[in-house]
Amino acid sequence: MERSSSPPDLPRGVSAYYASLAESLDPCVDPIAAQFVPQEAEHLTLPYETPDPIGDELYRVGRRVLHHYRDRILILANDRCATYCRHCFRRHFTGHSTGRITDAEIEEARAYIASHAEVSEALVSGGDPLMMSDDHLFQLFDALRAAKESLIIRLATRVPVVQPGRITAELGARLGRYSPLWTVIHANHPRELTPEFDRAVGHLIDNGVPVLNQAVLLRGINDDPDTLEALLRGLVERRVKPYYLFQGDLAAGTAHFRTSIDTGLTLMKEMRRRLSGLAIPTYAVDLPNGGGKVPLTEATIRRREPGWYILVDDDGVEYRYPHEG
Ligand code: SF4
Repeated sequence: MERSSSPPDLPRGVSAYYASLAESLDPCVDPIAAQFVPQEAEHLTLPYETPDPIGDELYRVGRRVLHHYRDRILILANDRCATYCRHCFRRHFTGHSTGRITDAEIEEARAYIASHAEVSEALVSGGDPLMMSDDHLFQLFDALRAAKESLIIRLATRVPVVQPGRITAELGARLGRYSPLWTVIHANHPRELTPEFDRAVGHLIDNGVPVLNQAVLLRGINDDPDTLEALLRGLVERRVKPYYLFQGDLAAGTAHFRTSIDTGLTLMKEMRRRLSGLAIPTYAVDLPNGGGKVPLTEATIRRREPGWYILVDDDGVEYRYPHEG
């Protein structure tokens, strides 16, 4: 495989809390450390990897607004994170010093929603929106509510996992006033489900803010049946619904995290044997180059070629995804 060398473009950084969950700082042996300690492999960019693997930029309609799927928009609210995950797929944006959304950009997002009747949901993401101050976060939420009273707000954040102390009872109560508001978090390993995590998600759920989890299937971190079962079961025990399990995106410098799709399909089959439907996420992939999100089943694979899966979307369009496992 031809490889090129490029510098990692994602900042280094970890919260003291998340670092304390690591039992070793060797990313080759500890599944927590592996998520925040950069490895040499991050310098290697494969020919089919890009900084924007899901094609965000193809759908940008404003400085902070992306409109890909008809009924919902994505707002890139903040480029900062409490911990910079080495597997991050949004490295074309995350940590690039654009900072938080400005007043003018909030107004631009409000106006876009107000003038697009088909938009019924806004996904507020980044980076991590909860790394903004409460004042700025609620300034944005107020603008979204002003744009459309019934707008569903989806807050994407890894803070409950990497800096759970940020979610206080007071913040949970304040967030609860923005219903319909959903939170989508990002836990990848059962050791992330600590008492601090329990309190954080409790402050959300007890205030009427449902919590869903999007995990990423990560080689050596959660790609074995026992670990994945413990994660999914542990989430449901804490009233968190496993929503997606994502196949790794083709982000630059992340090949060492990816498993093969066949590994993912085998794991999902085993999870269905072991767990109730409540604990089963949708195994999915964002098709390369902005093809969109599709569930991954045998039906998604039109054929296998040497080194490649040929995947197909709902319209029958084919996409090539590497077989690396
Ligand atoms: S919290 Fe999300 S946006 Fe931030 S580095 Fe991790 S995966 Fe990327």
